Amino acid sequence: MAQLDTRAKLEILADAAKYDASCASSGSVKRTSRDGKGIGSTDSGMGICHAYAPDGRCISLLKILLTNSCIFDCHYCINRKSSNVRRARFTTDEVVRLTLSFYRRNYIEGLFLSSGIIGSSNYTMEQIVEVARSLREDHEFRGYIHLKTIPDADPELIHQAGLHADRISINVELPTASGLKRLAPEKSQDRIEDAMAGMSDAILDTADAKKHYRSAPRFAPAGQSTQMIVGADAATDRDIVSRAAGLYGSFNLKRVYYSAFSPIPDASAVLPLQRPPLMREHRLYQSDWLMRFYGFKPGEVADAADDNGMMRLDIDPKLAWALKFRGAFPVDVNTGPREMLLRVPGLGTRAVDKIVAARRGRRLTLADIGRLTVSLAKVRPFLIASDWRPVALADKADLQLPKPAAKQMELFG
Ligand code: SF4
Repeated sequence: MAQLDTRAKLEILADAAKYDASCASSGSVKRTSRDGKGIGSTDSGMGICHAYAPDGRCISLLKILLTNSCIFDCHYCINRKSSNVRRARFTTDEVVRLTLSFYRRNYIEGLFLSSGIIGSSNYTMEQIVEVARSLREDHEFRGYIHLKTIPDADPELIHQAGLHADRISINVELPTASGLKRLAPEKSQDRIEDAMAGMSDAILDTADAKKHYRSAPRFAPAGQSTQMIVGADAATDRDIVSRAAGLYGSFNLKRVYYSAFSPIPDASAVLPLQRPPLMREHRLYQSDWLMRFYGFKPGEVADAADDNGMMRLDIDPKLAWALKFRGAFPVDVNTGPREMLLRVPGLGTRAVDKIVAARRGRRLTLADIGRLTVSLAKVRPFLIASDWRPVALADKADLQLPKPAAKQMELFG
């Protein structure tokens, strides 16, 4: 590997990390250095530098790889062994110095660190842990740390990562075991799930210990997350929703991230030539929200998919579900149960809570609902108010179709 200065390494290793979507810093404990001790804070302050990945995601962490060299050959990965990319590698000291220096300049709120596998899974994991240990113990860094762990590494090393990091992620990578076998033959779904189960147990044990002993060590207080690549294999949205539901249920995950597969330079021939529409990724996030915040069971979300198991791209999954199950509507805003109000397309959780609180004092009109929603036109067919009752929702086959946006014609077309 040619000798590179830190700036050149940063260019390569920050660029290589942009393919990872799982880096949101939500959900951690509050920790600051306002008492004059240590450095950093998990609160976002002013002046944080936001970087944008090419597909528009906002990144406010120093998001880098320790190295983009790798002994594995996952087909979908730009850093795979057979990829013809420029390689670079940071030392653990360099990552620590960069993080502190970016933090002091108020560019970032923390660190997201991942790595290709060098030498062995254990060796790589040791290096990742050493960065976090040094930041926490040598420099009393109190900012946010998200570590990507390597499922094949010794469970004790993964545990060490949890002692220093706010969030841990272990990527399942592909939604199906067959997809993983085909596109990442050196990885094993069983080993990935074993590592996730170990992490989940440790997080729950620590949370339990914290209830009894304030001095119990902290352990990944922002929980664990994972990422699935969408569109690199034949998995349908229905497969993906059902896999995500299983992961939430089995491993107590904070988040599943969905990352639309991006064709990479020098791509393997087994990959599709085109990326899936970004809207597909968006629809999967909306489906995820339906399960986590709107009380939909995984099977119900899957019911919103079309006959090919795919979410419609033209309308959101909540509207798609409502149109398939029209018999469940309209819902009376003055008497309907909260769980049914949550199913009304266009009503968010906050709007529903406000409706439930306001109707205790008086009967709500359509205008009241209009003040709580962005699009009254969207919610109107699905609800009853004191002065409103829709007609024949079940007959309106074209209800779902939003009017196409007006197009500027070309003068010299
Ligand atoms: S192990 Fe990680 S870095 Fe290495 S090729 Fe696979 S996905 Fe890429």
